[in-house]
Amino acid sequence: MSALTLLGLSLVLQTLATVACDPSVSEGKETQVRTPHPLKPWESAYLPNSLKPISYEVQLWPWLFREKASGLFLFHGRSKVTLACLNQTKVIVLHSKALNYTKPPRVFGRDTLTVRKYWQEKANEYLVVLLDKHLEKGKVYSLHTAFSGELTPEMAGLYRCQYQEEGSIRFLAVTMMQPTNARKIFPCFDDPALKATFDLTVIHRPQHSVISNMPPRATSEMWVRGQVWLVTRFQRTPLMSPYLLACVVSDFRFIEETSNGVTIRVWARKQAVEGGQGDFALQAAGRLLHFYEQQFQLYYPLKKLDLVAVPCFDSGGMENWGVIIFRETNLLFQAGENSESSRQSLLLVLAHELVHQWFGNLVTIQWWNDLWLNEGFATYFSYLGNTFINPDWTVDSVFAANGLHLTLESDALANSHPLSIGEQEVSTTEHISQLFDNISYEKGASVLRMVSNFLTEKVFLQGLLSYLKEFSFRTVTYTDLRTHLQKAVNNQSAVSLPTNLKSILDTWVLQLGYPVVTVNTSSGLLSQQHFLLDSSSTVARTSKFGYRWYVPVTWQMNTTLQNMIWINRTTKVFVRKAVVKDQTWILANINAVGIYRVNYDDKNWDKLLILLMKNRDAIPVINRAQLIDDAFSLARGRHIRISRALETTHYLHTETEHLPWDMLSNHLDFMKLILSGSPSYSLLEEYILSKVRPVYQYFMELAWAELDTAPTDSCDQFAQEVVAGLACSNGLWECHKVARNLYSLWMAQPDVNPVPPSLRPVVYCRSVTEGGQAEWDFAWKMYELANSAAEAEILRYSLACSVNASVLDRYLSLTMMPWKIKRQDALATIVLVAQNINGKKPAWNFIKTNWATLISEFSTAEAIVGLLEGVTSRSYRRRPTGGKGLGQREDGIAEPIKVKVKCDTAGIGHKLGEQFTFHWWDHIFNKAAADIVVETQEDGVVLQKVTSGGQEEGAVSNKKPRRAAVGREMLYGRFVKATTLTPHREQAEAEEPQSSDSSDQDEALDLSSTRRLTDEELLRACGGRTAHKGARHGLTMKAKLLRLEEQEQEFLAKYGQRGRTAGAEAAARTDVGKGTKMNKWLAKGERPTREEGPGIGTPEEEGHRLKAKKHKRRREKEGGKDTGIGKRR
Ligand SMILES: [Zn+2]
Repeated sequence: MSALTLLGLSLVLQTLATVACDPSVSEGKETQVRTPHPLKPWESAYLPNSLKPISYEVQLWPWLFREKASGLFLFHGRSKVTLACLNQTKVIVLHSKALNYTKPPRVFGRDTLTVRKYWQEKANEYLVVLLDKHLEKGKVYSLHTAFSGELTPEMAGLYRCQYQEEGSIRFLAVTMMQPTNARKIFPCFDDPALKATFDLTVIHRPQHSVISNMPPRATSEMWVRGQVWLVTRFQRTPLMSPYLLACVVSDFRFIEETSNGVTIRVWARKQAVEGGQGDFALQAAGRLLHFYEQQFQLYYPLKKLDLVAVPCFDSGGMENWGVIIFRETNLLFQAGENSESSRQSLLLVLAHELVHQWFGNLVTIQWWNDLWLNEGFATYFSYLGNTFINPDWTVDSVFAANGLHLTLESDALANSHPLSIGEQEVSTTEHISQLFDNISYEKGASVLRMVSNFLTEKVFLQGLLSYLKEFSFRTVTYTDLRTHLQKAVNNQSAVSLPTNLKSILDTWVLQLGYPVVTVNTSSGLLSQQHFLLDSSSTVARTSKFGYRWYVPVTWQMNTTLQNMIWINRTTKVFVRKAVVKDQTWILANINAVGIYRVNYDDKNWDKLLILLMKNRDAIPVINRAQLIDDAFSLARGRHIRISRALETTHYLHTETEHLPWDMLSNHLDFMKLILSGSPSYSLLEEYILSKVRPVYQYFMELAWAELDTAPTDSCDQFAQEVVAGLACSNGLWECHKVARNLYSLWMAQPDVNPVPPSLRPVVYCRSVTEGGQAEWDFAWKMYELANSAAEAEILRYSLACSVNASVLDRYLSLTMMPWKIKRQDALATIVLVAQNINGKKPAWNFIKTNWATLISEFSTAEAIVGLLEGVTSRSYRRRPTGGKGLGQREDGIAEPIKVKVKCDTAGIGHKLGEQFTFHWWDHIFNKAAADIVVETQEDGVVLQKVTSGGQEEGAVSNKKPRRAAVGREMLYGRFVKATTLTPHREQAEAEEPQSSDSSDQDEALDLSSTRRLTDEELLRACGGRTAHKGARHGLTMKAKLLRLEEQEQEFLAKYGQRGRTAGAEAAARTDVGKGTKMNKWLAKGERPTREEGPGIGTPEEEGHRLKAKKHKRRREKEGGKDTGIGKRR
């Protein structure tokens, strides 16, 4: 499935909390045995193993109108399931939920058997049929049922979806069965291991079409009370799990093409199809399907593939075999109207669902405890598919921007969970739902990527091919995968491992977390330690591996790639070669392929930071981003000081690649959070602006004179998006002005939108924030008129940017009108408002006032908890989803609240109406607001270092106070003085005692003075040093640059031998080219002056929205089940 369950907020969190609440939970075991059945088979959460389904014949008749008597939308159904009896039994137990049986079930063998009694066992969601005599082992029987159910709008099971087109309200019926909703449609053995064939028949009106997994085999007419209906019978499916069955009854239109014998259709609303919004997905789907057929060396086994964009869909996409259902934003794309990021996001979701046709549908997990085998593979190969369609992107860069960051963030909490957990931990629907999280998706993909890297792609794929072949139409466990990979290793000699694959893989799959690897270049020691963002937290779950891993460490000395080093579970490895004394630097985890953080000794950190300033392109762009990500995370885990983390950002004013900016943006929220309310806050903003401004101006000059032209290069578009967001959100006056102008132009001529798609979130939000009623009304009108779902989504986010409480009140009231704001977006919109500082109280009051309605409309505990978590999370505006709700804050400071919230979650579905629940959440709400103060006091180490105005702020520090000036320096250029640039100077003296260029030396000396240097001075100084060194070697500056470029090309080409050479070279070209361009541009001396704007410097929405948008992109690509609220994860 694709992530994005509204309000799933943090399934990781829920899982964690469940674990935290249950001390009996132990580590995942390799072979799990389900709990023995109690006396009565219907009393167990697991189906008894006396019967096995062979085939189903199911007839569904959804009524897309209200039934007169009940006033409800209903569906009627009949089912026949053919069963093989494996063990003699008198009772048939199968899943059934919220179904009304209109006739008693009947059971047939050779003769009819008498049903003594039947009932629905609500606790375990069963239909129990008690017979008068035994079903006999080895014989086949059939169970016949007739039933009806409600077509609710709940986006689960068989549900109705309402939308508006051409002025009229329309309905469609659609299914979402994963993970455990098939039982809400027909009685079935709703367990992924119990595969069967399905013969589906759907009755519908002639004006509607119906699609299902298979092509129709016959259609006939049926007359009921003078009205004609069509009865469409579909061909028999292959053997598959019940959760993969699907159908859609709608008046959608389609476009189609045939690709390698498979008919592919894209279905959507009439206006969307006629507007060409399905064209991109149709074309990409054909290419991707063929790509995956070649990768997996197995044909897609069906003759057709339908891709359906549904206006009401809770997940990002659902991989039903042969009929994939998507959120509209993940299938529809309007060239020129939608941004590059929405195109990328669409591709990732589309590719993810296509991969599931093999990993998930053809080969299915035995039980949900191994969910990562479905989702990890789908995510991993979606990145490969993305780079197949976009050859300019590298797998590593897509991974770094998506999977790896989310993995490292989610898995650094003490209450994360292993990829494979014990079966006994996953018995209920709630438990299963919680596993659709960043761990199953992103960590699963990250582990596969790491394995592919150390095995080589060739060996990895060989293992996968035999795994796919052996288990086609069957089910698997983690052990099966491991066995096949080991076989592939055994069948070759090129790759040798330090031990067997089991010893290595189990440390990554059967225990939570990952290590920080410390490289000491003085002693040559490499060591590992379990990395936790909150170093004071304790891990309740025990591990037989003692939280040690087999870590494959890739590394380079200067620009030369070295042989991989393995750190085994004994923790430390001595590497003689890693002892360096001269200017040689060491960089580990090249291209961030391994799942670990890297820390260095101070000297090596200094060298890397100098290198970033001097010649950033010597470090691959992914590692430039990773240095920032690692450093900020290590600072939060108290491994290094926060000033060190800030130092990694100091070169950013020369950085035009989006990844490093992305990483800064990821950590800025946290920085702002701990500094909010402190005088240092404005210093931080000022510092960020000093970094952003030159790059912003660079883009202005490059391609974007008045922000009305987007760069043609997709990487530049991303960078532009990130930089503009940071510029506007940190108060860059020029950015505000341009945003206002563009929005005014659009208001004057609504038919012609002058805002480039990638900048729309920034421009709309800024304009709504600064504007009044007219600007908000215009955005609302455009939202209502938008035919593009992606455009509507940006507008919906932007509408929450208002600072006017009455406007926000009105917006909140619209969330209760599904014809205004879609049901799938309602709760997310409330959270968006709550994430606006000005909207926090209105949103909370709105929830309390409308409590009864919310409960009846959104009755799942998950949805309501997600809403409450979103609204009561930090008073600082942060993205609403993605495991960032209260309790899943990555800093882990609110740990006690986290546990409490989640313990309450378990019963919240039953307790929603009770008063005490409110009191509790009121308490949480107040606590969330008050928490910042607590944090500020607790985080003494940080504040001790970040000072302003000469005053130490961190009274609790046990470190010596530093000179008053130093604190301020850390936020400006000077902070490098005390640490980085002193060694820089020493090296300069050691290397270049005979300098012939005194001006260069003067610049270098200036760096160690206490005078605050401007960025220009710093840059000149570093550039001067480069020239200086060049002079010593008899090289001109130009020759020096060319040589560095060559070195980088060589390095990347060499690294690319692992099968990704083309991508690496493309990355190298982009990287080197850009750096040079930027440096030249800066060298021209045309950098804008530091004129200050009017100083609108409060934390504004755009940055967060932009960030949220980026996370949404990740999540929608099907990251964990998120979203919630938001979809702005
Ligand atoms: Zn999936």
